[in-house]
Amino acid sequence: MVDCMAKQATTRSPPQIAAEYPPTELKKKISPEKHLECAAQYAYIPGNRYTNLFPFLKRNPWFYRVRDAKPKSFYRNITRLRTRHGRTNSRIHLFDPLTLPDCPRCPEDAETMAHIISECSQYEADRNDLLSSIPRDVTSPFNLDTLIAEEKLEVYECIDDFLDKIERSL
Ligand SMILES: [Zn+2]
Repeated sequence: MVDCMAKQATTRSPPQIAAEYPPTELKKKISPEKHLECAAQYAYIPGNRYTNLFPFLKRNPWFYRVRDAKPKSFYRNITRLRTRHGRTNSRIHLFDPLTLPDCPRCPEDAETMAHIISECSQYEADRNDLLSSIPRDVTSPFNLDTLIAEEKLEVYECIDDFLDKIERSL
């Protein structure tokens, strides 16, 4: 019986869908005002930072320009700096509410990568070494994002040395 019904089903023509839709229903036009509203709403999503820092898609990843062998932590630290996915309290707090986002040394500030590298009072002396070791041809004034965006290997090495000195990995 079942075999018979299955056989009949294969010979039957597929059911016709009666409903009709005008093409305008499928692709609605967005008014320029609405488009601007959406652009403003999504201008600050975290992923936009990366495309702002590195607007041009490159054929090879950044680490293809590294000539000497480096420890794995170098590639990890710099990649996390570039993508802002470091293991800092403010980031861990996003998926573990029990971890407070604050810096253990400066409770009024969130512990972000920018805080660790360019603000935290705990690492003042090592930061001075970092600032003096940054090559002179870097565009000035700079902050962490502009340093990262220049994609200079010497700068990446200086920042990684700083992280080694303060015994932090990202
Ligand atoms: Zn701090």
